[in-house]
Amino acid sequence: MPKARCQNSAREVALSGWGRYPVVKSYLQRPEKISSLKNIIQESQTVLPKGAGRSYGDAALTPKGQTVLTERLNRMLAFDQQTGVLCCEAGVTIEEILEVFVPRGWFPAVTPGTKFVTVGGAVAFDVHGKNHHRDGSFSHYVQSLKLILASGETVHCSRNYNSELFWATVGGMGLTGIITEVEFSLRPIQTAYIRSLSIKAKNLDEAIALFHQYEQQYQYSAAWIDCLASGESLGRSILTFGNHAESKNLDREQQAKPLDVKPKRRFTVGFDLPTGLLNRYTMNRFNAFYYNRQCSRFAYSVVDYDSFFYPLDFLWNWNRLYGRGGFIQYQCVLPTEVSREALVKVLKLCSQKGWGSFLGVLKRLGQQEGWLSFPMSGYTLALDMPLKPGLWKFLDELDQIVIHYGGRVYLAKDARLSAESFRKMYPNFPKWLEVKSKLDPHNLFSSALSKRLQIQSI
Ligand SMILES: Cc1cc2nc3c(=O)[nH]c(=O)nc-3n(C[C@H](O)[C@H](O)[C@H](O)COP(=O)(O)OP(=O)(O)OC[C@H]3O[C@@H](n4cnc5c(N)ncnc54)[C@H](O)[C@@H]3O)c2cc1C
Repeated sequence: MPKARCQNSAREVALSGWGRYPVVKSYLQRPEKISSLKNIIQESQTVLPKGAGRSYGDAALTPKGQTVLTERLNRMLAFDQQTGVLCCEAGVTIEEILEVFVPRGWFPAVTPGTKFVTVGGAVAFDVHGKNHHRDGSFSHYVQSLKLILASGETVHCSRNYNSELFWATVGGMGLTGIITEVEFSLRPIQTAYIRSLSIKAKNLDEAIALFHQYEQQYQYSAAWIDCLASGESLGRSILTFGNHAESKNLDREQQAKPLDVKPKRRFTVGFDLPTGLLNRYTMNRFNAFYYNRQCSRFAYSVVDYDSFFYPLDFLWNWNRLYGRGGFIQYQCVLPTEVSREALVKVLKLCSQKGWGSFLGVLKRLGQQEGWLSFPMSGYTLALDMPLKPGLWKFLDELDQIVIHYGGRVYLAKDARLSAESFRKMYPNFPKWLEVKSKLDPHNLFSSALSKRLQIQSI
C-alpha cells in the first residue's frame, strides 16, 4: 500500500502539549486494537505514539506525521496478587490504576504530579515522583516491555533481555517504537491516606537542611518555593513530607473504610486568562499569601492520596490560566555537590529579572538509570512561565547556568532547548543514538522535539 494512503484516512488536527506551545498539524489515528498498529506503521512515513498529552512541549507532536493516540489501547491484562505485578496495555492511565487498585490495597510505586498520564507516557519519559531519592523512577519497577519497532516486528525487552532496547526505550520519548504492553510492580498499602508534615523554611539553606534532616524518615518529599523572594529570604519554601498512613493513623470514620476515598469535585477553567495578569506584582502577592498561609512552622495532617499527590488535578484545564499563548515549564536538575550554589544563581536571576512562577517546585532526586532519563542525584527545580517576549533569552541564560554546573533540563517539559545544549546535558545520548540508528534508520518514529534537538538517526 502506498505510504500516502494512511494520511488520507486519518483526520488532520491541530495538536499541542500541556503547555499549549507549539501547535502543530498532524494526522490523528485512534486504534482500538494493537493489531492495527502494525498497519499504521507500515503505511506511514512518520509516526509517533501519544498518550494523555501531559508532556508540556513538543515531545508528543509529529508535524504532518501520524499521531497514534493510545487512549483506546487501555486494557488491564493480568495482575499477580502475590507480587503486585500488573501487566497492562500502554494506554492505561495512572488514574485507572488508582481506581481499580487502591481499594484492593495497591498503589503505583512511582507517580508523577498528575494522575492523567498513561503508562506508555510514564515509561517514555521514565517519570519520577516525590520519592525518587529513595525509590528511583518508573522504570525501576518495570519488569518488561513489549513494543512494535519500525520494522513492524513486535519485541520484548527487559533489564536482562534485549537490555539495550530496554534502556533506550525508558526515557526514549516514543522514538524507539510503540510500547504496547508494560509489566510493572505496584506497592502494597494499608490505607488510601498519607501522613503528612509541612515545614516552613525561611530561605534556601534552611530548605536544604530540612530535606536532609527528614528525607530518611519520609518516603515522599517536595517543596513549594517562592522564586521571587530575594536577600535573606532567597529560596523561602514550604516543604511537604509524607508516608503512607497505617490504619492506626486514621480517625474513626476513615478507619471504617481505610482504602476508600470519596471522589473529589472537579472544577473547569472555562476561559483563557489574559497573559497580562501574570506579572511580577501579582506573582509577588500570590507568593507572599501562599507562604504566610501556614501560620505555624510545623503542620501535621492525614490527607487522602488524591490531595497529597495530585493537588492540581482538581482544576481541569488549569493550563488555560497561563493565557492563550501557552507557557513553558522550565525544570532543571543540579548535582548534589553544587546544588546550593547553582540554585542560588538560578533563583537570583529569576528574582532580578522578575521571571517568577506561581508554581515553583523543589524536589530531591536520586540516581538515573535510563540513558535519556532526566533524574540525577541532586535537586530539581520546576518553574512555570507564560510565553511572553524575552522568555527565550532568559531561559537560554538559565541553560548556561545549568550546563556550567553539570545539570540538565527535563525534556518532558521542554519546547525550546537547543540541539547544542541538549548534547551537553545528556552525555549518554551517543549510546542511545546507536540503538536508534540500528532499529529505526529512516526515523519513522520522529517528533517535533527530535527534529528540534537533532536527535534522529544519522
Ligand atoms: C501537572 C503535571 C505534573 C507532572 N508532574 C510530573 C512529575 O512529578 N514527574 C515527572 O517525571 N513528570 C511529570 N509530569 C510530566 C508527565 O509525567 C510526562 O510528560 C508523561 O510522559 C506524560 O504522559 P502522557 O501519557 O501524557 O504522554 P504524552 O505527553 O502523550 O507523551 C509523552 C511522550 O511519551 C511518548 N509515548 C506515549 N505513549 C507511548 C507509547 N505507548 N509508546 C511509546 N512512547 C509513548 C510520546 O511519544 C511522547 O514522547 C507532569 C505533567 C503535568 C501536566
